[in-house]
Amino acid sequence: MIYNFTVDGVVIRVCKKFFLKTLGIDEKTVRVVVRNSSVKSTGIDLHGDMRGKHPKKHALSAEQIQSVKDHIGSFPVVDSHYCRKTSMRQYLEHSLTISKMYDLYCQQKWNTVPVKKTSYVKIFNSEFNIGFYKPRKDQCDECDIFEKMTEDYRLKNTGKHQRHLRRKEQSRRHKEVDKTAAKCNSHVKTATFDMQKVLVTPSLMISRAYYLRKLSTYNLTVFDLATADVTSYMWDESQDSKGSSESATCLQKWLTALPSDITHVILYSDTAAGQNRNQSVLMMYMQVVSFSNITVIEHKFMESGHSQMEVDSVHARIEQKCRNVPIYTPDGWYTLVRSSCKKPYNVVELQFNDWKAWKYLAQTELRNTKKADDGTTLNWLKLKWIKVTKYDQEAFYVKEELDNEIPFKRVSIKKAPRKSHRTTVIVDRVATELDNDVKVIPLPSQLYHSRLPISKVKIADLQQLVASGAIQQNYRSFYDNLNENLDNLVEND
Ligand SMILES: [Zn+2]
Repeated sequence: MIYNFTVDGVVIRVCKKFFLKTLGIDEKTVRVVVRNSSVKSTGIDLHGDMRGKHPKKHALSAEQIQSVKDHIGSFPVVDSHYCRKTSMRQYLEHSLTISKMYDLYCQQKWNTVPVKKTSYVKIFNSEFNIGFYKPRKDQCDECDIFEKMTEDYRLKNTGKHQRHLRRKEQSRRHKEVDKTAAKCNSHVKTATFDMQKVLVTPSLMISRAYYLRKLSTYNLTVFDLATADVTSYMWDESQDSKGSSESATCLQKWLTALPSDITHVILYSDTAAGQNRNQSVLMMYMQVVSFSNITVIEHKFMESGHSQMEVDSVHARIEQKCRNVPIYTPDGWYTLVRSSCKKPYNVVELQFNDWKAWKYLAQTELRNTKKADDGTTLNWLKLKWIKVTKYDQEAFYVKEELDNEIPFKRVSIKKAPRKSHRTTVIVDRVATELDNDVKVIPLPSQLYHSRLPISKVKIADLQQLVASGAIQQNYRSFYDNLNENLDNLVEND
């Protein structure tokens, strides 16, 4: 059975799980509805379900289909490098391709005749919502959908699409202008940054390793546009996960390590809310301008779907270098990244005690992040430009377009005055605190006091690799020293 959704006139094929979950219905309901309806009205093509009634000459048997499903289901999935909330899609480890998976399928013994590659791919695409990371240049859903629209829908959406393309051009133009500014002015620094996709550890070229859960290693890379210097902040999942406090911690380390004559910093990133466009990062910027020589920090966001940046080429180079090189521990990644380019990348290894609780500090210090001084409500999902300055530490500034002609909106971080006197005492206390502390933002507290535990199932898989000799003995102590999660938590994967 084939499941489709029609969005803005475009038919989008989805897997069964996604279809049922989106509509909140079970498979039985679908069958009843389909039996009583036409394909046109439901979006469901029952073709595959007719096997019993009109058998095709080369139709796959239930056992063959199951063999493929079992095989695909046996690969552990890796988190998206963005926060889970942003997508239901899960990803396979970086070194896998559909061809590699099919080769592995053929290498296994099945109680049935193995299917052909086309059938394997078809089942992968229709039954699973998992995928491979694609280079960012291949990804703009908005442009893809617009291209596939019927003429009618395209006419209706022309204005929206042109605004999208205009924002794309604006962000690229701004980045070039700011790059030139950094080259010409020794007080200005312009950089792009991004998280790399998850680097699984160990990364081995042996078949059985593909089926086992592995440790995640993370890399947030900052690329200096004027000098092409690269700094990679790296850690493994026993030292921390990834999120807004983590991005803020890495960026704060980068900002505070800049030469003291830098007074103006301009950063570019994509719009991922979990990592980049959030209040933890804003909080960190406000703290940095209050304590350092930096007087202005601007953060500009690339247009969604067109956020290719120089930092992507750094990640691509690392991914190319790691092909055919076995990596046994996170240290292996750090060494590989350092030596990925003739001009060595600077790798900063982070431990559990490096992380700062920026998110918590933002919750306590930023009493208002939603209402601009002009009374309008901010939509954080639309912000394209955030600016903080040492000269006004009681506010931050935003724009929804990278347009120099549009004025910034000022947003006071003080709580908006309440109409009711119901909580007079609390309001008074808040007012006093604001008067005393708003100009000196406190330091964030430490996020963790020990290494993070790893799930039992993952530890078991890693120990299996150690015991089999796939991980060399001299790396054993690293795996022996991982903390097992005593709460018996089982991972989603
Ligand atoms: Zn686009």
